[in-house]
Amino acid sequence: MTDYKLLIGGALVEGTRSIDVINPATGEPFAHCPVADEHQLNEAVAGAAAAFPAWSAKTVAERAGLIGALADALEARADEFARLLTMEQGKPLDQATYEIIGSVFVLRAFAGMNLKPRVIRDNGQGKVIEVRSPLGVVAAITPWNFPVILLMNKLGPALLAGNTVVAKPAPTTPLTTLLLGTLCAKVLPAGVVNIICDNNDLGGALTAHPQVAKVAFTGSTATGKKVMAAAANTVKRVTLELGGNDAAIVLDDADPVETAGKVFQGAMINAGQVCVAIKRAYVPEAMYDIFCAELARLAVAAVVDDGLKQGAQIGPVQNRMQFEKLKELLEESRDKGTVIAGGAPMDRPGFFIAPTIVRDIDENARLVREEQFGPVLPVLKYADVEDVIARANDSEYGLAGTVWGKDMDRAIDVASRIHTGTVWVNQHMAIDPSLPFRGAKQSGLGGELGEEGLHEYTQATIINAAVAG
Ligand code: NAD
Repeated sequence: MTDYKLLIGGALVEGTRSIDVINPATGEPFAHCPVADEHQLNEAVAGAAAAFPAWSAKTVAERAGLIGALADALEARADEFARLLTMEQGKPLDQATYEIIGSVFVLRAFAGMNLKPRVIRDNGQGKVIEVRSPLGVVAAITPWNFPVILLMNKLGPALLAGNTVVAKPAPTTPLTTLLLGTLCAKVLPAGVVNIICDNNDLGGALTAHPQVAKVAFTGSTATGKKVMAAAANTVKRVTLELGGNDAAIVLDDADPVETAGKVFQGAMINAGQVCVAIKRAYVPEAMYDIFCAELARLAVAAVVDDGLKQGAQIGPVQNRMQFEKLKELLEESRDKGTVIAGGAPMDRPGFFIAPTIVRDIDENARLVREEQFGPVLPVLKYADVEDVIARANDSEYGLAGTVWGKDMDRAIDVASRIHTGTVWVNQHMAIDPSLPFRGAKQSGLGGELGEEGLHEYTQATIINAAVAG
């Protein structure tokens, strides 16, 4: 078994204990992950704090060069990273490769941004400019659905802006982050990036740590609330990228079969474990039957298998807890709706759920109200556009959503009335590092990506100068 190490103050070190990492396609352990204790957590924060003066004193161009070098090192080993990602996360190898290549792309996109002072006013009387400086030590906490790219969304801007980082992956998908640590150890000055792992027990201490200036968190809304509370004591900066219950609204001029294919894709990618996955679909009465039938056909035809097997389109769900939660949701869905494909775990080892389509489901069923985070899609009928907009917005979440229809302007009009951070029209998951991404309502606070995402890792200072009289 590979010997994975934590990265603390530039040194690759053992943890104080270790936990098994389970391959979700088999349900069996395949590696050990070193786990830190609170003393090592403090050392990691101290390492990041010690590295901060020299790292923040470098020019933006110097830091961009090193971020670019990290991207090159990751690209050179993309195949190894993708394979490991499939083994710990479960996603099919082509999707894992896409995540790794996307991660390289994100790092390069941030390396290409700049932080020049912004001149707000410059006239005969004086000059007002806004300058940006780094915050200090950033805690970067990531979930188990996209462990690599979600870390890059944080590392890229944090490092470019001159911060140093303590990263903590989810305990069920720590290995790709630890492998990345070996690249950081070679490419970056000691202490600029530190990586610790836990057994879901160090998040509280990390987010409350007085030397941590900012917490960049992606995960569930429930944990996000704890992060916000822990950060309050020292008024840390926080960005929260949390859960979603994204609606797809299919308009009556959409092609039912073609759109069903795209909605299926948007619901099932990464076995539905995507913050912005399509989690409920609203379809006009007139095309409801044909739309549902096409979704069911695609669900039955999908190749569900170990992500390492060639041709696998949908892998297992990532962990046993999620698997058990989905089983509960399926049980309730059988009572509150009509299951037309799937509907149960698959009879094989590992955490496989058959791709499931549920039609005519009660709007108050848990599958509709909650974030299912699995390959299970409820399909609801509507008669009136005003009504469907209200139903789409009737959620405590507000992450993203999609609108589908041939008349793009009408679709944009509907999209502009959806209360979320992003709405895609006739496409899904068009996430671009140059565009800001943020959640509304309980789906998040602040944003990631784009220039705005970079600014979240800085303190802006207004310099307001008058010409000497
Ligand atoms: P989770 O909230 O259980 O865990 C996320 C991370 O937080 C893990 O690293 C975990 O160890 C850590 N953690 C646990 N307790 C903590 C605490 N008290 N303080 C600080 N950190 C703590 O989330 P998950 O189940 O790993 O991920 C799935 C969730 O993430 C879904 O809700 C999904 O929608 C969301 N997500 C959101 C986005 C987005 O960009 N909005 C992206 C991906 C996933």
